[in-house]
Amino acid sequence: MTIIIEQTIDVGRRLPATPILQHAPAALPATADVVIIGGGVIGLSIAWRAALAGLATVVVERDEAGAGASLAATGMLAAAAEFETGGESLLPFALASQRRWPRFRDELEQASGVSLDFETRGTLVVALTRDETSRLRAKHDLHVRAGLPTRWLAATEARDLEPGLRSSTTAALLCADDHQVDPRRLIPALRLALKAAGATLVEHCDVLSIDRENGRCAGVVTNHGACRAPSVVVAAGAWAARAGLLPESIHAPVRPLKGQSIALRMNRMAPATRHVIWTEQVHMAPKADGRLIVGATVEECGFDPSITAGGLFALLEGARRALPCVEEMSVDAVWSGFRPTSDDDAPILGATPVPGLLLAVGHHRNGILLAPATADAIVDLLQGRNAAPEAAALDLARFRRSA
Ligand SMILES: Cc1cc2nc3c(=O)[nH]c(=O)nc-3n(C[C@H](O)[C@H](O)[C@H](O)COP(=O)(O)OP(=O)(O)OC[C@H]3O[C@@H](n4cnc5c(N)ncnc54)[C@H](O)[C@@H]3O)c2cc1C
Repeated sequence: MTIIIEQTIDVGRRLPATPILQHAPAALPATADVVIIGGGVIGLSIAWRAALAGLATVVVERDEAGAGASLAATGMLAAAAEFETGGESLLPFALASQRRWPRFRDELEQASGVSLDFETRGTLVVALTRDETSRLRAKHDLHVRAGLPTRWLAATEARDLEPGLRSSTTAALLCADDHQVDPRRLIPALRLALKAAGATLVEHCDVLSIDRENGRCAGVVTNHGACRAPSVVVAAGAWAARAGLLPESIHAPVRPLKGQSIALRMNRMAPATRHVIWTEQVHMAPKADGRLIVGATVEECGFDPSITAGGLFALLEGARRALPCVEEMSVDAVWSGFRPTSDDDAPILGATPVPGLLLAVGHHRNGILLAPATADAIVDLLQGRNAAPEAAALDLARFRRSA
């Protein structure tokens, strides 16, 4: 039986309060068809879909599922709001994943019995000065050229939609397909669904190395023994390039990019906003449980998890600039996480020079958005099919091609 406990976490802890599912700990099986290293949104999504496809699937997570970047995420599915000049190579994959989300949500909610808080009002990208307005106009032009369903709103239209916006708001874009989910529901849902599909999640188990025989992948070695498998998927997030995990012949250019976030508590009877709001400084995402997530800083500082005064100040200042009423809100939690970021900010998916060893890493600011399409692409490869072209373009070999 599964018991859901709301864990209360004080300000200052690293991760937001998370509904915890208590399961009997699973032991590491001796064999599997596929072992997935990492129990974040990417590893769990692949595991769920692989198990549904009939593969004997094991996920090995050295902490608890979601404890990496995934529970630190806001949960925006922001293919359009995130799209800027230079992001053209990722856009087809991001849109493909965004289109998959409603069905992924339906199937996951049905399989798990957990509502994901999938919210479909869309995202408002807001300008607050004349300079920001001209940059927003350029963004709108880019979206129009890319065929995105983004609508320009005059200041009055934006404030009619969200009266809490500062009166000096100059314009906004409504990105109608940029929905959101709650990662605190998504991760427990994936845990339940993958288990129901027959996959095994082994937590508190550290993969030390990837086993090879005759040049091809043969399984993993962990601090709790080995698991033999003809296929291994590395979904270890920002830790994927950690020394010793990948064979020396494979260089996956992935590094941690820290983000700090704050959860504020809104007045439930009169939420400060119903849309996700983006500005040039912050995003703000209202959740069904009354939290307003304000995120996120972008910091190149390795694996330093500290919550800093400067980070919190920037978030709160940025939030107040767009939504003055945040001043009245209480602070629920603050945390940081490490985005897994590749050299070109796009994920690295698929084959490596070691047969049987696949990568699903580098999802940067978009791992929640990209989970459905990533899972489909990796399961296609595990079953001997080609991945869809928009996923195949994101292979490791692209870094050699562009060198
Ligand atoms: C503040 C913040 C806000 C964000 N907001 C959004 C958002 O709104 N929308 C969006 O789409 N994305 C967002 N992101 C990005 C998103 O969180 C990531 O892209 C996504 O979580 C990456 O998932 P993952 O499974 O690859 O990595 P992770 O969630 O980091 O999971 C990797 C897991 O691998 C485990 N691991 C590592 N090494 C080993 C090993 N040797 N053995 C066993 N286990 C191992 C780790 O413990 C970890 O749990 C945000 C990120 C941050 C930090």
